[in-house]
Amino acid sequence: MGFVIIKRFDNSIDAHLFRISLEAEGIDCYLFDEEIVSLNPLYSNAVGGIKAKVRQENVERTFEFLKTIEIEQIPVCPFCGSSDTYLDYTSKKALPHWIASLFSLLTVTYPITGKMVNTCKACGERFRS
Ligand SMILES: [Zn+2]
Repeated sequence: MGFVIIKRFDNSIDAHLFRISLEAEGIDCYLFDEEIVSLNPLYSNAVGGIKAKVRQENVERTFEFLKTIEIEQIPVCPFCGSSDTYLDYTSKKALPHWIASLFSLLTVTYPITGKMVNTCKACGERFRS
């Protein structure tokens, strides 16, 4: 009777949303290494990110549930209707990368340079989901 890693996250907000969605289905989910990654996001790669784990006996039920929600979460391009998309950074309206890098260097903070958008592989358009 051990724990099995179901998914890894690089921030605690996504991890808690995942945990809450599992617990709404009656599956107990536990987050490991959340504190260290929240304290310093650069440690995320060192510890393997925030790990969402469930008990061994709930693994099959968890994957059954994840199949249903992941089908709903696939982004569809509003321009051509294709579901062949990928997440990409955009910096069109955000700070240029060199300003963000300089700001983070001067203030010793984590650089935030752009926003995540979906990019369609079929038509090349960018959109938010
Ligand atoms: Zn498209």
